[in-house]
Amino acid sequence: MNSDLSIRDIAKKLRSKEFSSYDLTRECYDLIEKVEPKIHAFITLVDKKDALARARKIDEHMTQSPLAGIPYVMKDAYLTRGVRTTAASKILDDFIAPYSATVHKKLEDAGAILIGKMNMDAWGHGASTENTDYGPSKNPWDLTRSAGGSGGGPAAAVAARLSVFGIGEDTGGSIRNPAAWNNITAMKVTYGRVSRYGAIAYASSLDTVGPTAKTAEDCAFVLEAIAGHDPYDATSSKQPVPNYTKELEKSIKGKRIAFPTEFYGEALDPEINAAITKAREVFVSLGATVTDVSLPMLEYGVPVYYILAPSETSSNLGRYDGVRYGYGRNLFTKENKRRIMTGTYALSSGYYDAYYKKALKVRSLFIEEYQKLLVNYDAILSPVTPIMPSKFGELLNDPMKNMMADLYTVIVNIVGLPALSLPCGFGKGGLPIGMQLVGSMFSESSLFSLGHAYQKVTDWHMQLPQVLK
Ligand code: GLN
Repeated sequence: MNSDLSIRDIAKKLRSKEFSSYDLTRECYDLIEKVEPKIHAFITLVDKKDALARARKIDEHMTQSPLAGIPYVMKDAYLTRGVRTTAASKILDDFIAPYSATVHKKLEDAGAILIGKMNMDAWGHGASTENTDYGPSKNPWDLTRSAGGSGGGPAAAVAARLSVFGIGEDTGGSIRNPAAWNNITAMKVTYGRVSRYGAIAYASSLDTVGPTAKTAEDCAFVLEAIAGHDPYDATSSKQPVPNYTKELEKSIKGKRIAFPTEFYGEALDPEINAAITKAREVFVSLGATVTDVSLPMLEYGVPVYYILAPSETSSNLGRYDGVRYGYGRNLFTKENKRRIMTGTYALSSGYYDAYYKKALKVRSLFIEEYQKLLVNYDAILSPVTPIMPSKFGELLNDPMKNMMADLYTVIVNIVGLPALSLPCGFGKGGLPIGMQLVGSMFSESSLFSLGHAYQKVTDWHMQLPQVLK
């Protein structure tokens, strides 16, 4: 199965003609035919003939780009010219974008081959893909459980090796939560690191675009191709893009990792706690120091996020009024409506000061706390989700539990920092467990080297899901 190889190996083999991009792409489509009916990761499969024709062309004119000829999928939150984009909502059921998102364009320019637009919670609202209008994605490790969300589709596809890598969108955990539940690696980038032009907005002060793949190294290859300033996105940063793949091998000896003890309390599943505690020892054996610290504001993350994100989404979704784009508002899901209503309420006069403005003030406090801590540390070691992959209905029927699933992820978006999510073990029934390393602004490179060092001495990330056995 060539889609199981690393990007580095695939790039080498394509050039030595051990196999062609055509072979690799066809292999992905063959696997999709077998596995997709079981997991339902796709909303739209790119026409096989088109993808294979593109692969042939790339085989004939192989470039230097490491992503040339490599198949990828995108969460269905990105505009892709000529290919349907739905945000998993019937409102955009037959919407064909007239232009492409910058991230898609950059990947196309790099020679990568888009094969699918992937399932998600409609408009990014959720943590289990159960709020999609196209049926939930099943976890390739246990088909009775959710693939996570909101980007469960791209994560499940990468986990099942239907695609070499994927692109997600992380507003409050949508890249990292599904990465943890599917046993893959993913980077939630610093706010502004990757252009969001052509990304369907959920909450504009929190939205980020990032890679999902098998390893930290693969994520580094993808981020190198998609990061950077974009004149079409005024929030994209002019900070130069480092050579992430070259910096991967930097020694992690002497790196300082913070371990916030409040994060490892009652709310955390004991299996996840045990796995991360073991990972902590691995970092120590690699020469890093891991120190217990206090970061007491964690519990306020969810309340602040669930004021800010709904407020922003109530404004962003205002444009889907059935006049200019797609079909009418009646097609919003129950979860979408809950958020639009909460957000509108928090922004309305009389409540604005009490809720929205107060949440912004707390946001500033969070930023200060994280900044203070990260002066002395290179990364914070944190769980990704407090719970193991959920059974269907578990989150859908319990809005409070649904929000609490975001406990460890949303706070990172509130402060705008980068976070690498990576596999660190398995629980009962062979369910995957993930952890995240959170760093200071634009420290992706350092997080990648920590993740890469960890993955060189562990093999969690190499395990294949049940659906392939
Ligand atoms: N689960 C979170 C929410 O529902 C995060 C989603 C996201 O990052 N798009 O808001």
